[in-house]
This record gives sequence, structure tokens and C-alpha cells, in this order.
Amino acid sequence: MRFLITNDDGILAHGIECLVEAAEPLGEVFVVAPDREQSATSHSLTLHHPLRPVRRAERRWQIDGTPTDCVMLAVEALMDERPDFVLSGVNHGQNMGEDVLYSGTVAAAMEGLALGIPSIAFSFAGGDLRADLTHLKEQVSVLTPLIKHLTSLPTFPANTLLNVNLPPVPADGVKGARLTRLGSRVYSGSLKPMRDPWDRDIFWIGGGSITWTGEPDSDFRAIQEGYISITPLHLDLTNYSMLESSGNWWREL
Ligand SMILES: [Mg+2]
Repeated sequence: MRFLITNDDGILAHGIECLVEAAEPLGEVFVVAPDREQSATSHSLTLHHPLRPVRRAERRWQIDGTPTDCVMLAVEALMDERPDFVLSGVNHGQNMGEDVLYSGTVAAAMEGLALGIPSIAFSFAGGDLRADLTHLKEQVSVLTPLIKHLTSLPTFPANTLLNVNLPPVPADGVKGARLTRLGSRVYSGSLKPMRDPWDRDIFWIGGGSITWTGEPDSDFRAIQEGYISITPLHLDLTNYSMLESSGNWWREL
């Protein structure tokens, strides 16, 4: 088994170290990750400056680009053979509900999927950038059997990436896994008005509080109850029910 591992917290993050340690007993690990924090860069590509891969060790590269750049370069330039799986993370903080639309961690798995490679995103739901990461390092003991199981499924789901969130509990406190749907979250107070040193208005996005809503099988409920949340995601955003039931308003255009 050949794994490509990347993340959006940067190659020095604890989370990617944890994912590498968890995957190494299962196959050959190739790491291509951003050289710095790239959280919330979503699926962006770097078009306006060239990318310079820097080799840190054997099968370990850092790139001055986004998670999406990393997957593209790894698969199309740096790896001798295509990976069997792209693993992204472990992100420092949850990626549930609408988070998946902003997340570089999830986007790296999306890029893997777009290149035709089965892909899994991993996040440790320990909060936001001020996350309580106390139990992150212990998650290796949870991740190795989880990765082994997910990568040995008789048929990995087609056109789908798996978005995995780990509950912020000690590794021996994880109750099991649930297959979930995306919940929905609303941030309050995350746009902070401030003044710059020249007394002009500026705004800083971050912090605030989160309110979650969703069905009983939502991702955030599994996490709140101490379960691993596994949400299957696909890239096709088409609203198929509208195609079937929207009437003929578009004929009048
Ligand atoms: Mg991140």
C-alpha cells in the first residue's frame, strides 16, 4: 500500500506527524505538505508564482503552496508511482458541517479524488486554532486500525471521499465509529472590528462561538457522544431534487 499524506496545518504540525506514525505500519508513506499554515485555504491553487518543492528527507517534501498544490505536485511530479490512497490531516480542529467548504484538509482529499485516487480527510475535533490538542498524539492507536479498516474495504465508495473527525477524548475513551451526514453550524461574533495603528477600521475573522444544528445522525452529534464521525462526501454539488421538481420557470428565460 502506498500512501500520500498531506495536510493544511503545515509540515511541522503535530497532526501530520501523528498521521504518518499511524500509516507507516500499513505501507509506504510519502509526505508532501505545505511549508506553513494553510488552514481555510479550501481548494485553492497557486497560479501567480511558481512552486518550489524542498526535499526534507527521503519521501518527505515541503511545498510553498496550498494543500491542493501539494497533492497535484506529488501525484504528477514527485512520486514515481501514483498513491493508492491520499490521507489528509490530522487537522488541528474539527471539520464538520460547513467547515468542509473552507477546509484545506478536506480540499486536499477532494483533489485526490479529482485525480481518481481514493482519499480520506482526518480531523481532531479539539476545537479551533486554540484547540485543546492534549489527546491528539494518543490518536495514533485509534488511527492505525481505522486507516487499515477504511483502506481494506472490499469496495471503497466510488466518487466519494471520507471525512473523518475524531472526538477530543483520550484514545481509550473513543466509543466506536458512526457513519454520519454533515450538520450545520452558525458562528457568532467571529468578525472582530478593530483599529489599526493608524486608527483606521480593520476586521479580523476568527474566534466567536459556534451553534450546531442537525439530524440525529449528524457529524457533530457523533463527536459530542464520543464516537468517530465518518461522513461520505462527493464533489458533485448539483441539486438533483430541484432538477426533478422545479417546474418550468427556466423555460421563460
Ligand atoms: Mg488546519
